[in-house]
Amino acid sequence: MFQRSLIGSDTQLNQTSYYEASVQRPRAMAPLLGAITADVVVVGAGFAGLSAALELSARGLSVVVLEADRIGSGASGRNGGQAIVGYASGQGPFEQQLGAADAQRAWDMSVEAVNLIEQRIALHGIPCDWRRGYTYVADSPKKARALREECDDHNARGIASEWAEGADVARFIQSPRYVAAFHETTSGHLHPLKYALGLASAAQAAGVRIFEGSPVTALTRGSRLVASTPQGQVTARFGVLAGNCMLPEYGPKLAPEIAPRIMPVGTYMIGTAPLDPALCERLIPNLAAVCDNNFVLDYFRFSADHRMLFGGRVSYTAMTPPNLKRLMAQRMGEVFPALKEAPVEYVWGGFVDISMNRAPDFGRLGDNLYYLQGFSGHGVALTGLAGQLVAETIAGQAGRFDVFARLKHREFPGGAWMRTPSLALGMLWHRLKDAL
Ligand SMILES: Cc1cc2nc3c(=O)[nH]c(=O)nc-3n(C[C@H](O)[C@H](O)[C@H](O)COP(=O)(O)OP(=O)(O)OC[C@H]3O[C@@H](n4cnc5c(N)ncnc54)[C@H](O)[C@@H]3O)c2cc1C
Repeated sequence: MFQRSLIGSDTQLNQTSYYEASVQRPRAMAPLLGAITADVVVVGAGFAGLSAALELSARGLSVVVLEADRIGSGASGRNGGQAIVGYASGQGPFEQQLGAADAQRAWDMSVEAVNLIEQRIALHGIPCDWRRGYTYVADSPKKARALREECDDHNARGIASEWAEGADVARFIQSPRYVAAFHETTSGHLHPLKYALGLASAAQAAGVRIFEGSPVTALTRGSRLVASTPQGQVTARFGVLAGNCMLPEYGPKLAPEIAPRIMPVGTYMIGTAPLDPALCERLIPNLAAVCDNNFVLDYFRFSADHRMLFGGRVSYTAMTPPNLKRLMAQRMGEVFPALKEAPVEYVWGGFVDISMNRAPDFGRLGDNLYYLQGFSGHGVALTGLAGQLVAETIAGQAGRFDVFARLKHREFPGGAWMRTPSLALGMLWHRLKDAL
């Protein structure tokens, strides 16, 4: 069944992750046993849930986080680590639905989201290899035209961006693949699992109770919410659903209203052995994170220990693509011929929660249950801000959260069960367009 295979394939995808191999996780936290109470119960210990918990406790609320697996074991501990301004959807849905002023507010919040990462790292002393610098690349003249518009838009919105085309692209990246690029120094990159573990330990220091191995399998709504796990229960005044696309996999009835509005899409990464630092500096002179503007995009960067971490490919089913390591290495070799023979030591992946229009999908179910989903592969920075917004709202300041809550979202055709085949067809069309 689709539900089962998503969990199985998700676990399998995290077996050989560079991030898991490069952290020392603290001892596993015990699962929830028995009945407890809190002001707020948060479901999911990824960036969104942990940020919400941290911000809620900073506002004086008692918080319990229930995590089905381990802290950061979902997308937050596996991603490309690229913290990017803007949205996966672009500004379109914001401008069309909210008007120019609130669309600009949303843009400004995306910049704030990146800055918030830096502030939290400094405030809580989180060692996670944070580095500013981001390069956007295009691999065809048509894509270069779209990239130029994006560069101009960044400049118009106050993100100073430097344009390059033709031979000049080599200033930012040494690759035969790209015909144009632009570079800015607001976005950046980090080691995502180190960051997630750092957020968790800051939250715990602030009094947040975190339980690992505690999937929420049922949620009773009302003025008091009751979240049930296999061996325990949390009764709380407020709830935050931050389970990404795995939420309905553990408890099919947890959020039937919102589950059909997101689609789990697999995305994958490889990590090479450590490379000569001089080679890294030559291939990406400012060691920025890089991303192309294809619909199915390549995203990559060097880690602090000089490995190429190269991400790309997608799967619209729960199945891991065959020959993943070989195909990803081949792709990396096309981008960087100098890395054709580089040994690949790690291969992993995970699922992102894409919404139909690729804009984030935040809101409320009733008066006291909030949800954060639909980060659409653009969640490293935005999850942190989302956590702050939900905390502000629960603490009584609804204004900024409602910029997002007013965005309308459509269900994927076919509902929760048939959305995958119809999306696969739609995506095929976009891939064909990339190739034109
Ligand atoms: C391979 C990959 C590369 C990516 N690269 C980038 C990138 O470079 N830049 C970028 O901006 N974004 C990227 N993303 C997306 C980004 O990682 C996500 O948007 C972000 O991490 C989502 O955070 P989250 O907290 O919402 O979800 P998650 O990190 O997935 O956390 C959700 C948690 O909830 C738990 N959970 C789910 N259901 C339940 C339940 N019922 N009970 C208890 N716990 C539950 C899960 O176990 C999980 O730990 C990437 C994603 C992947 C997979």
